Amino acid sequence: MPHPVHLTTRIARRLCAVGVGAFALISCATTSHTSSTGMGAGATGAEPAATMPRPASARIGNDIRWFRSSAEQRAAFLQAYRVAGERLVALSEGRSRGTWGVILDADETVLDNSRYQQERALVDSGYTEASWSRWVARREARALPGALTFIRDVQTRGGRVAIVTNRTAAECDDTRANLRAEGIEADVVLCKAETSDKNPRFAQVAAGVNGLPPLEVIMWIGDNIQDFPGMTQAPMRAAPESAYTDFGRRFVLLPNPMYGSWERNPLP
Ligand SMILES: [Mg+2]
Repeated sequence: MPHPVHLTTRIARRLCAVGVGAFALISCATTSHTSSTGMGAGATGAEPAATMPRPASARIGNDIRWFRSSAEQRAAFLQAYRVAGERLVALSEGRSRGTWGVILDADETVLDNSRYQQERALVDSGYTEASWSRWVARREARALPGALTFIRDVQTRGGRVAIVTNRTAAECDDTRANLRAEGIEADVVLCKAETSDKNPRFAQVAAGVNGLPPLEVIMWIGDNIQDFPGMTQAPMRAAPESAYTDFGRRFVLLPNPMYGSWERNPLP
């Protein structure tokens, strides 16, 4: 699910567009480094961005551009899901059908919401609850490269697919319908109830939920460090490399440069 921090970035860009005194002259040079070219106005000798109308394409940052248009994005997703598929073969070996499962996040793991991000950028805004709810209701998120093949592989091998997402309970029916429209028949979709912490829902999957039997969860797939059991941003940043041993084995992380729990991290 998109992160509200993006809104402040968009607002800053809007202030740049209209020009707000010294603030704009100072901060817009920085903001322009996130433009599509990655080059600030100073690099070209042009006037400060505060006095220049910006073409719509300039409102799309490299993060969204990479996610929506690059060959690298397709390669990265297909590569990650291919690794996941190979690990699935090894980890499901010898297990009885219906006794095990895989947990996946939804947004930017299975469903591609980058069109929403682009639409918000084009109106110089970012994530808002209202605009996000309207996007979810449209059910227009497409399946990400490799996701459908992997999910079908899990089910063909006798595993159950649980999608654990921080979309809200009110958004859950539209989410299920969007997944089905993309050919993804999850065995269970658990949306956010009391907490955005996914660990209690991971435990529900393990204990048996929504008519499913108890499952041994053998893999987790996500785009956020918090999509993996017991992991949060700050401790994992401080942890030694050995804390990442399960990645590429039973955890598979997908790239999301557009938003995430990393947005407020201090730079090293
Ligand atoms: Mg996600």
